[in-house]
Amino acid sequence: MGRRGDKADAAVLLAGVTTLDAASIDALYGLEPIFEPGSVSTDTAELGVFVELQCPWCGEPYGSMLDLTDASRAYIEDCQVCCRPIEVRLEVSERGELDSVSTSRVD
Ligand SMILES: [Zn+2]
Repeated sequence: MGRRGDKADAAVLLAGVTTLDAASIDALYGLEPIFEPGSVSTDTAELGVFVELQCPWCGEPYGSMLDLTDASRAYIEDCQVCCRPIEVRLEVSERGELDSVSTSRVD
């Protein structure tokens, strides 16, 4: 049983050292947890693309995030300025890249 006790003591000591280090590093640099910017932007680039479209009703340009994971399709969204419905048509290549995007009026 003596051995077990020694091991437990060592584990507690190690944990204590680790906690102290993290705390002192935080105190030194005043850092908050941050995300790795590289991995995040890579993921979003594969999932969609940000494009600027133009409302066919009022002519206002607006930004839209296009989801390219579903291949070619059309969907309807409301203009952020005049609130009228816009049909957005996506053409996505077989490699999952955006071929073209067009907007048209919906009655
Ligand atoms: Zn509009």
